[in-house]
Amino acid sequence: MIATKEVLRRRILKLRIDQDPEEKEIKDRAIRERLSGLPEFRRAKTILMFYPIKGEPDLRPLFREILSLGKVLVLPRVWGDDLRLFKVSDPEKLRRGSFGVMEPEGGIEVRPEELDLAVVPGIVFDRRGFRLGFGKGFYDRLLRKVHAPKVGVAYSFQVIQEVPRDSWDVPLDLIVTEKELIRRSERWNC
Ligand code: ADP
Ligand code: MG
Repeated sequence: MIATKEVLRRRILKLRIDQDPEEKEIKDRAIRERLSGLPEFRRAKTILMFYPIKGEPDLRPLFREILSLGKVLVLPRVWGDDLRLFKVSDPEKLRRGSFGVMEPEGGIEVRPEELDLAVVPGIVFDRRGFRLGFGKGFYDRLLRKVHAPKVGVAYSFQVIQEVPRDSWDVPLDLIVTEKELIRRSERWNC
């Protein structure tokens, strides 16, 4: 039987929060190196990133790298039921927003269609690219409008055989973990 979305979220989120901080730091570095080495990342000018909460991989060192490479760093801000996207020129100047996430205060808005790469958090993933978030569907609503490659970032224990999927779930093209790069597979049993 396939576990429900909520059961999977709770189970995997606990594993992520309980990680040993030193081991997490090592994995985070491997994830950052794999992500920033991707051709999709190197080619991209305008990159959506995320600020970590609840044990998510810490991509903050890449914020500076993006800026120093002359690329455009974009972070989301919760706006009602939606995520709106803003350019960030100084990652120190964020403020705590909804759900405790550090967000841009405002500034220049970026349309989802303008992104060259969307880097996406999540709690559970599978090899078809399906993902579970915190259960509010924020990224599903955003990702329908994104034409660029969508990359999930996760620890390997977050990738399971099969994530339950609803009609509105938008699959990712790639998933980067500390162990491997997963390219979306159309196959069901992989
Ligand atoms: P998550 O993706 O965060 O794990 P779900 O996929 O379970 O969460 O979605 C949570 C809720 O978001 C769903 O009840 C659904 O109604 C809503 N939702 C998701 N995508 C859309 C959309 N494109 N339009 C309207 N509502 C949506
Ligand atoms: Mg969803």
